[in-house]
Amino acid sequence: MPEMTTPPSALSNREQIARALDGSDGLLLGVDFDGTLAPIVPDPDDAAITDSARESLVDLAKHPRVTVAAVSGRELSDLVDRVDIDGLVYAGNHGLEIRAGETTFVHPAAARQRAQIRHLSERLRDRLTDFPECTVENKSLTATVHVRGSDHAARVASATETFVAEAENDVRVVPGKCVRELRPAVEWDKGAAMELLAEAASDGYRPLYIGDDTTDEDGFRAVQPDGVAAKVGTVAETGTAADFELREQAAVPRLLDWLSEYADERWTSERHDSPSRQQLRADDLRDTEDEFVVRNE
Ligand SMILES: [Mg+2]
Repeated sequence: MPEMTTPPSALSNREQIARALDGSDGLLLGVDFDGTLAPIVPDPDDAAITDSARESLVDLAKHPRVTVAAVSGRELSDLVDRVDIDGLVYAGNHGLEIRAGETTFVHPAAARQRAQIRHLSERLRDRLTDFPECTVENKSLTATVHVRGSDHAARVASATETFVAEAENDVRVVPGKCVRELRPAVEWDKGAAMELLAEAASDGYRPLYIGDDTTDEDGFRAVQPDGVAAKVGTVAETGTAADFELREQAAVPRLLDWLSEYADERWTSERHDSPSRQQLRADDLRDTEDEFVVRNE
């Protein structure tokens, strides 16, 4: 049973986080985008990383013992455009596509079902023409039906579920806040992506994951018991698997800055001059057990 109570504050318990990281040789930091690096805004198209979050991440990415991964439900190219910091690892579409350096890795099942997702998105658009306020966003490996603000949100959501179920394919519908997501029917989520990155990271690196949403709970669970998980914002009635909370998005850069100071004290103050240095290389991901398809761009 998940705890119904709010976990202790991350910022007030930094000594405890330090103790959790003390035995490690480095840090694998996973951060979600919307609601974590960027404040939640009415139109997801307007979401932008805050200046303070950007500065903190740039700093962390320069540290030789810190690997930073941005992990999001957004399409990879969209996530990369919005964060736009050299040296980071990017995991888009809930980790179905991962970029390290110049190389993009795609989950093989997702790659196979890409055409199906596109086909379903097009047909679903035709099906939903009576609801012009609801849009279907094809994110290549997944698709999102946006129902925010619609008077017919429930009807559109159930029409989407029925349509996909009747289409008899390997696509599943995942409910979210004001959205229905079409995803390939494959066991993969932000937590699986964090586990993959942990396997690819240098030995002795300890993971820390920060996120704000229900899809981040997989990330929280993935870093335990050795790592640290921090939940941003209100904890839902269903509880959270996170060890700590950050009351609001604005508190995220404060934790990141502290992590940066911690890394300096704990390991070395010597930072790499070039921010384009890649801590986790494509070859590290190639060496993992999960066989992703490589997409070169
Ligand atoms: Mg989020």
